[in-house]
Amino acid sequence: MKDLVSKLDIEENGATMNSFNPEKLVEMYDATGELGLYLIFDNQLHFGYWDKNNPNASLSEAAARLTQIMIDKSKILQGERFCDLGCGVGVPAIQIAKAKECFVDGITISKYQYDKGKKLAEEAGMSDRVRFIQSNALAIPCDDATYDGGWFLESIYHMGHRQALREAYRILKPGATLLIADLITGPNTSEEFKTFAREQLHSDHIPKEDYPELLDEARFDLIEIDDITESMMPFMVPKVKAGFKQYEAQILQYVQREVMDNWLRVFESVCENLGYILVRAKKRVCP
Ligand code: SAH
Repeated sequence: MKDLVSKLDIEENGATMNSFNPEKLVEMYDATGELGLYLIFDNQLHFGYWDKNNPNASLSEAAARLTQIMIDKSKILQGERFCDLGCGVGVPAIQIAKAKECFVDGITISKYQYDKGKKLAEEAGMSDRVRFIQSNALAIPCDDATYDGGWFLESIYHMGHRQALREAYRILKPGATLLIADLITGPNTSEEFKTFAREQLHSDHIPKEDYPELLDEARFDLIEIDDITESMMPFMVPKVKAGFKQYEAQILQYVQREVMDNWLRVFESVCENLGYILVRAKKRVCP
């Protein structure tokens, strides 16, 4: 593990983002108790999207819909190379590889996710098109300008926005589209929540107003910021409750009931405190 996370990364992050501790983050994602959460999300580790077209969708259906919205925004073409920065167990990577017939590299810092991603890609018959790399997304073992497109799907807040965008700039080709799905702070975000997110969820959230400058500094042109808070946050808690009910027996094999209650409180607090945006940007052709 230690060799995955260079001292430099830690120091660089420490300068701007005290919460960044890759080892703690890996512990969080590798904890077997988390398997209960993988279950209710059907292995997609991100929030769902609901509107008048899918008010009755389950958590996992709505999570797949969010991925589809991201896929629709991506400009990736058949046969091109796409990078999924913080890929979880690869369900969105498999979804975009199928939809766009592109090649996808999924980057995760977690060994559990890397192994599980490989297995799921094999089961889906997609291992020739979806590969996994166990690496820190701030120092990806690839040449500059390798990828035709990429996204951070609910992952950039674990990495430090500035550093993550810098590495995304390096690995993408000029003109490539970068998508970001991010949980953002807003008027409802309490200081108490920010501390909790930093210490317990290893996340540092920023307001959407920070994006234009961050992207400009990282040499990306901002194309759009879509605030989809209202299609996400009000739905999540009831849907998580329904998911817990549906999978209760299986989840209780991994964790005690009080852990489930705790998870629910975390979702409640995230939904009360944060908003949700989708960002589309393009790596500048002339820096
Ligand atoms: N995009 C996935 C997973 C989101 S969870 C999905 O939607 O299913 C956040 C992901 O970011 C996890 O896979 C975690 O391992 C990854 N991650 C966080 N920080 C990372 C880092 N510094 N390097 C690589 N992966 C990281």
